[in-house]
Amino acid sequence: MPGHPCSTSRHCAGTALAPCTAPSSAPAMAATVSVSWPDPGLIGAISPDRVLHDDVYWIAEPLPAYHRRRVAIPGDAAHAMTPHLGQGACQAIEDAVVLASVAGPGTPATAPADATAPANGAGPDLAAYTAARLPRTRMVANGSYRATRLSGMTSPAAIALRNTGIRLAGRLAPSLMLRQMDPLASWTPPAPAGAS
Ligand SMILES: Cc1cc2nc3c(=O)[nH]c(=O)nc-3n(C[C@H](O)[C@H](O)[C@H](O)COP(=O)(O)OP(=O)(O)OC[C@H]3O[C@@H](n4cnc5c(N)ncnc54)[C@H](O)[C@@H]3O)c2cc1C
Repeated sequence: MPGHPCSTSRHCAGTALAPCTAPSSAPAMAATVSVSWPDPGLIGAISPDRVLHDDVYWIAEPLPAYHRRRVAIPGDAAHAMTPHLGQGACQAIEDAVVLASVAGPGTPATAPADATAPANGAGPDLAAYTAARLPRTRMVANGSYRATRLSGMTSPAAIALRNTGIRLAGRLAPSLMLRQMDPLASWTPPAPAGAS
């Protein structure tokens, strides 16, 4: 924000479903985000060169597997998702836990000379990694996309309906609202390979 160098800085952030060619002026971007900005005049006063605009990409069509032969991919490389459930990094951490589990103790840390060579049966069971992670990350990514659609509404009527529904559900059935998070929060790490 322009102003005295000692003034506190302010920032507004929002994400919206929009084509990658979305305009980068602050008012035009603010119009794509379905929230009431506290001070619309403030938004209008921001010069275009002060606006940070980063496109967010996600993998819409799931990959068929998260491994091939001796190579496994975790995190966004495997299942980049929209940010509206705040789950991308959480899922990456779960990937790491499962990978560590299938690798087990004693798995050589050094890569083989040809990482794409067929596994000879002695390496980690990466098919088990894909089997454990692909369905769960798809479930989370789909839920995140639904949340993105919900938060990206632009019709005032739809926004009012959504906000009223969420407010009512929060008051009338808070435990039901919390249970929506069960599939995310109830994940249990696998036992380490070799553990009895
Ligand atoms: C707006 C927004 C909000 C989010 N909020 C949340 C949240 O609240 N909770 C949550 O869990 N997740 C959230 N996420 C998602 C989270 O940021 C990502 O899912 C997470 O960072 C993915 O981690 P990663 O290690 O797989 O990939 P990255 O974080 O993308 O890390 C990959 C790294 O590899 C580097 N790299 C790429 N190519 C090469 C190369 N050839 N050589 C060397 N290095 C390379 C990159 O520079 C990068 O540092 C959010 C995402 C966005 C966009």
